Amino acid sequence: MLDFGAPVLYNHTEGSFMKDIAEVWQEMLSIMEVEVHSLGFDVWIRPLQPIKAEDDVLVLCAPSDGAKSEVTSRYLPLMKHALREIEDAPGELIIVSEDEVPQPVAEEARSERVIEEEKPKPAGLGTLDPRYNFGEFVVGDCNRLAYEAALAVAEKPGEMFNPLFIYGDVGLGKTHIMQAIGNDLRITRPHCKMLYVSMDTFINEFIASIRGTHGVNNQAFRDKYRSVDLLMIDDVQFLSKKPSTQDELFHTFEALKSAGKQMVFASDRRPQDIPDLDSRVRSRFASSMIVDMQSPELETRIAILQKKSQKAKRNIGIEELSFIAERVTSNIREMEGVLTKVIYLSTLYGRKVDLAICQEALKDYLAAESDDVSVDEIIDCTCKYYGVNKSDVVGKRKNKEVVMPRQVAIYLINEFTNIPLSSIGSYFGGREHTTVMYARDKISALIVSDPKVKTAVADIKAMVLRK
Ligand code: ADP
Ligand code: MG
Repeated sequence: MLDFGAPVLYNHTEGSFMKDIAEVWQEMLSIMEVEVHSLGFDVWIRPLQPIKAEDDVLVLCAPSDGAKSEVTSRYLPLMKHALREIEDAPGELIIVSEDEVPQPVAEEARSERVIEEEKPKPAGLGTLDPRYNFGEFVVGDCNRLAYEAALAVAEKPGEMFNPLFIYGDVGLGKTHIMQAIGNDLRITRPHCKMLYVSMDTFINEFIASIRGTHGVNNQAFRDKYRSVDLLMIDDVQFLSKKPSTQDELFHTFEALKSAGKQMVFASDRRPQDIPDLDSRVRSRFASSMIVDMQSPELETRIAILQKKSQKAKRNIGIEELSFIAERVTSNIREMEGVLTKVIYLSTLYGRKVDLAICQEALKDYLAAESDDVSVDEIIDCTCKYYGVNKSDVVGKRKNKEVVMPRQVAIYLINEFTNIPLSSIGSYFGGREHTTVMYARDKISALIVSDPKVKTAVADIKAMVLRK
C-alpha cells in the first residue's frame, strides 16, 4: 500500500512556468524551418510576430489580412504540429492580423512579457495544470472507461488499476484525465508524493544524469523517480528507440510496482504499436489496465463547449455552440481553439457571440482543414513527382517503388489537413491508423536525416500549393 506519511510534496525543480513567448516562437521557427519550403518560410512565416500567450493560447500576428489568410490556409496545421512538439508551450495557436490587434504590436508584446515574468509561481503546484481536474472533464461514451478508471485510481491509488495506461489520438483528453488524478490526490491526500512528467523530460533528465550535467547524478535521478507514491508519465510513445532509457524505466517500474506505488501512463498508441520497444517494457505496459479514448460524439462536444464557455464566463447560446460542435469533429483541442477565437472576436467587436462570429472563427479552421487542399490533390502530386500510378499507391502493393510515395502522401495529408489518422487510412485501401502513424513518423525522421526526402517533400508541397 502507499505510504502517505511522508511530510512533503514533491517539489519540481523546473517549475511550472510557461516559456517566454519569444522563446516558444524561436523553437517553432527552428522546427518549421526544416519542414517548410525556404521561400514560403521567408515570405509567410518569418514575418509573424508572437504577441501574447493567454489561457494556453499563443497569439501570432500577421502583417496584413491577406498574409493572415495565406498563413492560415497554408501552414496552420504545420504550425500547430510544431507547437505541440515544444514543452511548456501553450497548447493552442491562433493567427490574427495587425488590424485586429487594438494596440501597437511591439508595445503589447513587451507589456505581456513583463506580466509573464512577474506572475508569482503557485506554491507546490509543480507542473500540474489546475484546470485539468475531474470537475471540468465532460464524460461521454468516448471516454467513460478512461474516466472511471482514473477516478478509481484517484480514490485508491496503488490498488486496483496499477499501472493505468491511457491511449488515444491527440487532443482527446489524455493529459487532462491523467493530471486530474494528480490534482485530485493533491487535495484528498496532501502528503502523497507525486510526479508528473512527459516522456521527453524523463529521457532528458536520464541522459543528463548519466553525463552528470545539471548537477544531477544517476543516483539522484533514481531517488527522484523511485521515491514517489504516484508517477505519471505522459506521451510514453517517445520512448521508442531509446534503449537505455527503456532499461531505466523498466527498473523504475519494477521498484515502484513492488512497493505498491501507483503509475499512470498516457500514449498516442497502444503498447503493442509503439515501435522499437524493449520486450520487458512492452510487456509491463501491456499488462497494465489499458483504456482508450475515442473522438467525442456530438452531444459530448456540445457539452464540452458549454463547460468551457461557462468557465470563460461567457453566455453563448446553444445554437452557436452546436454550430461549432457540428463542424469541428475530431479533436477537442482544435474545438477549444475555435471557441477561444469566437470569444476573442466577440470581445473585439463588442457584441454577443452570434452565428456570424462563429462562422468567421470557423473560416480559418475549415480553410486549414481541407477546403484548399484535397487529399486527392496531395496523392496526385505525389504520384506525379515519383512517376508512379495512383492505383498502386492507394492499393495493396508493397514494393519499394510505391511504399515511399505512399508514406510521403500520408505524411503530407497529415500536415495539410485535420483529417484524423484513423480516416487517412481509408484513402489507402483501409489501412490501420497505426500504419498511418508509422508512415508519418518515418517521413518526419527522414526529412531530418535524408536530404533527398527533404527536397522531395518540399517540392511536392510546392506543387500542391500551386494547384
Ligand atoms: P491529449 O493529451 O489527448 O492530446 P489534452 O488532454 O491535452 O489531449 O486535451 C486537449 C484539450 O481538450 C484540453 O484543453 C482539455 O481540457 C480538453 N478536453 C479534452 N477532453 C475533454 C473533456 N472530456 N472534457 C473537457 N475538456 C476536455
Ligand atoms: Mg497530451
